[in-house]
Amino acid sequence: MILDAYASIDDYQQSQKNISENTPRLVSAVDAEQGQAYYCCYCGARLFRRTSDKGVSYYVCFGGEKHSHPICIRKEKASTTYAVNSPEFSVVLFFNHLFDSESETESSKTREKATAIIKFEKDAEDSENSSQDSFRVLPYSSIKQLIDDDIKIRGRNAVIDYDRNKLVDLIVFGEWLKDVWPSFSGGKRIFECIPNYCDLGRWYLQFRCYLKNPPIGASNYYYLNLYFGQKEKQFNRFASLLFSNETNDSGSTRPKNKYRTVFVAGDWETDNINNYWAGTKHETFRADFVSSRQIYAPKTNLL
Ligand SMILES: [Zn+2]
Repeated sequence: MILDAYASIDDYQQSQKNISENTPRLVSAVDAEQGQAYYCCYCGARLFRRTSDKGVSYYVCFGGEKHSHPICIRKEKASTTYAVNSPEFSVVLFFNHLFDSESETESSKTREKATAIIKFEKDAEDSENSSQDSFRVLPYSSIKQLIDDDIKIRGRNAVIDYDRNKLVDLIVFGEWLKDVWPSFSGGKRIFECIPNYCDLGRWYLQFRCYLKNPPIGASNYYYLNLYFGQKEKQFNRFASLLFSNETNDSGSTRPKNKYRTVFVAGDWETDNINNYWAGTKHETFRADFVSSRQIYAPKTNLL
């Protein structure tokens, strides 16, 4: 099920050249006009809108057209997809889920298992009906889902409204940092950033964001400190995932090249304590580590 497409073939071609500047806007199937041609954001195939009996809008190919990119070929076949414009999606619920420490306990594993079985039965039921009615648009529930749908998220304008929210209020990709810094005063966000420093003594991981052309007087670099408190097991897991083992004299370790870009969620606030090193004060925010869902580290070669 394809949910987003470009309004013109020019937009598609432009999107293939340069993603960082002036990304053309995607049109979601809900907003598409009847009978109008749209273009697949992965392969440029000519599409039109169709609406299922249950009111789910999606794009299908014009006669004689075919998808040619692995992602849209896969998506076209899928009866379930994730979207920020799903009626059930809410930034508040999304973050509540991400910061739910309970979700890592044993009991929730059982619960997830039970849900998975119900889902499996439901899917089997759906495929028996095998009509377009089985199409479902589910709300995102993890950072990984957001990143896997990367082109869709990036293709949307960072500040576009959806259901009274802006995408930058949810996730801030590197090229969107300029829309957030230096006026960011804190709150719940996912940031695309780079592992910077690992403090084995105080159990925090530091990440950094780089702003290419900051306004005069503002910094290029912003730092995010994620404190693990008493969560030693989780600290050790992420420290050894993102940083190498060798410790230098100051007790810090080097980031691994395998994970150059990570996505870190937190309820950020200014770090007034741990923001001064090498003789300089740095723009630093802090958040507490509550659950492993807060960090998503795709391997560099997958991005
Ligand atoms: Zn396609």
